[in-house]
Amino acid sequence: MKANDKNIRFWIQQIIFPIFIVQSLNAQPDNLKVQKDSLEPFVMVLGIAQDAGYPQIGCLKSCCETAWADSTHKTWVSSIAIVDPKVRKWWLVDATPDIKEQLHFFQKTTQGQYPFLPERIFLTHAHMGHYTGLLQFGREAMNTNLLIVNVMARMGDFLRNQAPWSQLVKLENIRLWSLVPTIQDVLSEDIFVEPFLVPHRDEFSETVGFHITAGKKKYLFVPDIDKWSKWNRNILEEVQKVDYAFLDGTFYNENELAFRKIAEVPHPTIEETMKLFVNESSDVKKKIHFIHLNHTNPLLWSDDQQKLLHKAGYKIAEQGKKY
Ligand SMILES: [Zn+2]
Ligand SMILES: [Zn+2]
Ligand SMILES: [Zn+2]
Repeated sequence: MKANDKNIRFWIQQIIFPIFIVQSLNAQPDNLKVQKDSLEPFVMVLGIAQDAGYPQIGCLKSCCETAWADSTHKTWVSSIAIVDPKVRKWWLVDATPDIKEQLHFFQKTTQGQYPFLPERIFLTHAHMGHYTGLLQFGREAMNTNLLIVNVMARMGDFLRNQAPWSQLVKLENIRLWSLVPTIQDVLSEDIFVEPFLVPHRDEFSETVGFHITAGKKKYLFVPDIDKWSKWNRNILEEVQKVDYAFLDGTFYNENELAFRKIAEVPHPTIEETMKLFVNESSDVKKKIHFIHLNHTNPLLWSDDQQKLLHKAGYKIAEQGKKY
């Protein structure tokens, strides 16, 4: 290369190009901000109902009336997507009976920017609403190849040894990876997931909740727990540590199950949870987003009840919303 060419290259690389960059930065601050924001990791809520969904099978009462009549009132079973736009990857928490709709919705709403299947699926426990969606990955449906499913030890034994789940493992539709309580799993440079045990009716598996870090934001996901008082952690402190807390909101109060003993299906009622947080600031209360709502929970169908909850400073998780 001639000395002259070198000089020209120097001018372009060191002087003209940087000036051009600075000018474009100044000229398009809004566009760049949008671009930057769109690379921020987030959590998307893919459903907010209890295991049986909303409306619930066999329910002809007023709670499910509107949802049977108008499908826009239907709600999928509680589940969240953890999304990292920087690496174009996402992870799913819980495989619900509505997984077919939920994966389709995620693909559509993110305009195909992510692979159809999540990088991995994290399961909380072996109750109907949290793992039975795995069947959609089997031979009769999607026939996936080695989709990674992160599970606790008992949950893993259950899936490996009980049909029909064992077939998914044998045919390598799914591959089970273990979760270890309180050990942080690094999903990407910006995403960390940490499971913790919670007390629940553990017939077939243990139950976990998740602490999630996605970029600058921290989340708590506890869709199912028997009672806050039975937990070895303090829910007040746990909520204070995060930006968003998706908490078990199965029942609004004790009067909801007229024909069944509520003690057989223990949950902290929303009234109990609100009582615990009554002296907390509004900044703490507004972190709480109730999820996993039973069809009997008036928050699913009563505008008045929703207004009361918002007035008290709390929120309901919204299906399809980014947090
Ligand atoms: Zn559940
Ligand atoms: Zn109902
Ligand atoms: Zn459960």
